[in-house]
Amino acid sequence: MKSNGLKRHTKQHKAANAMQSQNKILLVDADSTIPNIALMKLAAYYKQVDIVKCNISYYPHKRKDVVVNAVGYDKVFVSAIFFSTPNHLKVTNCNCIEYGGSAYSITKKLPDEVIAWKSDYSIYPNADTSYGFLTRGCFRNCEFCIVRQKEGNIHLDESVEKIVQHKQVKFLDNNFLCHPQADEILQRLVAHKIRFQFNQGLDIRLVTDENARLLSQADYIGSYIFAFDNVSDEDIIVNKLGILKKHSTSNWACKFFIYCHPEMDIVNSVCYRVNWCKANQVLPYLMRDISCWDSDESGFYTDLGAWANQPGIFKNMSFEEFMYKRCPSNELRQQRSIATYNEGKQDASKWQRIVDDKSLQLAAEAEQLTTDDFNDLII
Ligand code: SF4
Repeated sequence: MKSNGLKRHTKQHKAANAMQSQNKILLVDADSTIPNIALMKLAAYYKQVDIVKCNISYYPHKRKDVVVNAVGYDKVFVSAIFFSTPNHLKVTNCNCIEYGGSAYSITKKLPDEVIAWKSDYSIYPNADTSYGFLTRGCFRNCEFCIVRQKEGNIHLDESVEKIVQHKQVKFLDNNFLCHPQADEILQRLVAHKIRFQFNQGLDIRLVTDENARLLSQADYIGSYIFAFDNVSDEDIIVNKLGILKKHSTSNWACKFFIYCHPEMDIVNSVCYRVNWCKANQVLPYLMRDISCWDSDESGFYTDLGAWANQPGIFKNMSFEEFMYKRCPSNELRQQRSIATYNEGKQDASKWQRIVDDKSLQLAAEAEQLTTDDFNDLII
């Protein structure tokens, strides 16, 4: 009975595979800037696929409308990340279209039999980096973030072995450090000399002496990326930066995503956090909410981003110097942006001393905390 059952299953499996390969499948990558994992798993599952890459931009001034003619295809899978993308994409001449990705639904998932496949990078032949999730979800539930709703509480996703297919890998985890096995996984990455990066950023509030030590030993790609979203987190960030700096001698080794939105106080929140980065010799990356483009201060956000998001310029040039070079013949714009910026400017040398004192004190306190204390935070 058992062997008959197995044979029947094998026959069904072969029949399903034959059906899969007979169907003409078109994959539409609407807006990914890196290889799209869902589409690569569909490519692995269906074997024979065609792909159209639309490159619809997140940035309003760069967006274009795209029409994909799917005539001759039995099924089309469309994947889009950015919420604005569906308004700019139309797929015609196919009656069987599946839409997926956060732009269409934050709860829709691929079937398990598709997820089980390793990503097929043949649809992105120029890719030199693997991408994947070691964990999904997050133990926090920040009001501006969809991760908890989309992926649930923190849990393991794919293994290192399943993800890595190139000489380097970028992990897309949203809050890797909050997983209880994070240190164990970091130890394995270090031991196997895997070149990697967590490119969505790590939660600096969860930095410990142990994970900071492991990160400093890793073959890490570029900066250690964190987020500085709220000025109220400054004390804990100073504390954790002290721990990170203890393990890494180089300044500018850390980068902070600085999220900004027109409803945030431009002086006391946005400029404050960017200046804090300069005073502490860490890099900022200004992440402008899409609404910044339509705000009264859109020009200032663009100028600030152009300065803050270019490490060589940010490290070596003041904002004033940058503005004189950026728009030499537009005095009005220079003066307007410089005036806004200067309102939020602090006395950096005084600030640095305060930060150093706080950092030493808080880093000493943090050493008393054990990994177990941090695991207790996971709910
Ligand atoms: S910690 Fe990060 S990933 Fe988690 S809910 Fe907050 S913003 Fe989202």
